Amino acid sequence: MNCRGSTRLTLNAPVHDGRERAPVTTRPPILLELGPDSDVAVRESDDGALRCVACSLRYGEGDFIAPARREMVRHLLLHQEEGGRVPQNAIERLAGTV
Ligand SMILES: [Zn+2]
Repeated sequence: MNCRGSTRLTLNAPVHDGRERAPVTTRPPILLELGPDSDVAVRESDDGALRCVACSLRYGEGDFIAPARREMVRHLLLHQEEGGRVPQNAIERLAGTV
């Protein structure tokens, strides 16, 4: 009788239960991305605040944080006034008019 074998654990084999898991992401959702039509990037924090990432209006002082969408809309309009490219549909989406 062979006691070894069937009950021996294999420690270095990957555990796979057949289900695919979505990768865990800790990055906040991106509402607006830098691109050819946008000079600003906006992300949403876990607490619901919105961040204008590395905001060019803050002259290198980091992110502008808006506690609510209304403030971020105002902020993005300021970017436009200063000559920054901000997609109009992004502002309308934030303002809730679309
Ligand atoms: Zn900004």
